[in-house]
Amino acid sequence: MRVVVKDQTNFVPGRSSSGGCYLEVAEYEQISDGRWAVRYWSSSDFDYCPWMGQYQSCEGCFYRSDEDGECEAPQETITLRELLERLAEVANQNYERPRYNPEAVGGYEVVLAE
Ligand SMILES: [Zn+2]
Repeated sequence: MRVVVKDQTNFVPGRSSSGGCYLEVAEYEQISDGRWAVRYWSSSDFDYCPWMGQYQSCEGCFYRSDEDGECEAPQETITLRELLERLAEVANQNYERPRYNPEAVGGYEVVLAE
């Protein structure tokens, strides 16, 4: 099972690749009974590390493999309790549908996937 949290607080569809108004996603995938692995994604065209969830190039990063150039940063894993805490925080913030930019879609969307 996966839980996908879409942060639309600064997301403007026409400016989401290089215009600074990105959709940011955190995807939680269940890897065992009480453990969830986290992967991050951004609609930005700029360098973005999916394991660190930061706008940075994996080039020259401490975790970059010398052999194949792949990023080998350790994937973050959290407990079910931590996942529920993050979801509760999103739900509480979403109550006011935050929008950090008047044109942004605003708010958070949470999707359950297989
Ligand atoms: Zn990386």
